Amino acid sequence: MIPMVDLPDGTAISALGQGTWNIGDDPARAADEVATLRAGIDLGLSLIDTAEMYGEGKSERLVARAIEEQRDRVFLVSKVYPHNASATGVAKSCAASFERLGTDHIDLYLLHWRGQHPLAETVEAFERLREAGKIRYWGVSNFDTDDMTELADLQSGRHCATDQVLYHPDERGIEFDLLPWCSAHAMPVMAYSPLGQAGRLLRSAALRKVGQRHGATPGQIALAWSLRSGKIIAIPKASSVAHVRENAAAAAIELTAQDLAEIDAAHPPPHARERLAML
Ligand code: NDP
Repeated sequence: MIPMVDLPDGTAISALGQGTWNIGDDPARAADEVATLRAGIDLGLSLIDTAEMYGEGKSERLVARAIEEQRDRVFLVSKVYPHNASATGVAKSCAASFERLGTDHIDLYLLHWRGQHPLAETVEAFERLREAGKIRYWGVSNFDTDDMTELADLQSGRHCATDQVLYHPDERGIEFDLLPWCSAHAMPVMAYSPLGQAGRLLRSAALRKVGQRHGATPGQIALAWSLRSGKIIAIPKASSVAHVRENAAAAAIELTAQDLAEIDAAHPPPHARERLAML
């Protein structure tokens, strides 16, 4: 069973989803990538995260193949480029995403990062899409606490459903201020690159040691760690069925106080405000 996380309106969605950055780029890998996403959906990783930016539409086209004939089983997330986030640009990008995704609605539509268009204009455009039933929720990505405060002060700004940010044991800066801010506003945070992009993090001796106690890999411990508060949605990207199965199994791991203390010692939490890290 995959745990659920509440959106601000109380709607529960899967806490473990699937990322799709760099998926769909290589036609020779496409069949495996579609099979992986479909296996993930069957395992309960029903939230799929994509963006118009990923492969300039290739990721969305690949996702379309995975969700074909099962659109209603999926909570679909996509993102608009900041340079397209104008009053008219948002609707145009959303329509183009619909075409690539083979759908007539997106469950959660995010502003990928802050750009040159006034935030109020983007929010207004999101609200129009929401009122028209084309998106169910909207949110933001790569917003730091001051951006969130500015957003919340705008008319309808409090309709924001989430902030998608970089978060894993080596990138914990958001624990100091952004996570508490989101928590106070009943808003889940969506953690991107929760496996640290399969880099140094997966070679962590501390994650390996904790994993040995649970019969789990370092990656599974990283995912269990990101889900520990019940307020975070993690979206690891996998391109093999073996990897997505392993990721889904991480949801069943319950970390103990000793596990968390050992992870803290090797991957310390922030002691002061840090600028939001992003990729
Ligand atoms: P992740 O931290 O999810 O790491 C992905 C890497 O981990 C891939 O190389 C993958 O390999 C590997 N991997 C997956 N499962 C396992 C496993 N069980 N064991 C070992 N290795 C594994 O990195 P991403 O940067 O892709 O982040 C996840 C998602 O977050 C993105 O795909 C995207 O949807 C979103 N994102 C959003 C950003 C934003 O600005 N809003 C920025 C960056 C990411 P393989 O492919 O071979 O399975």
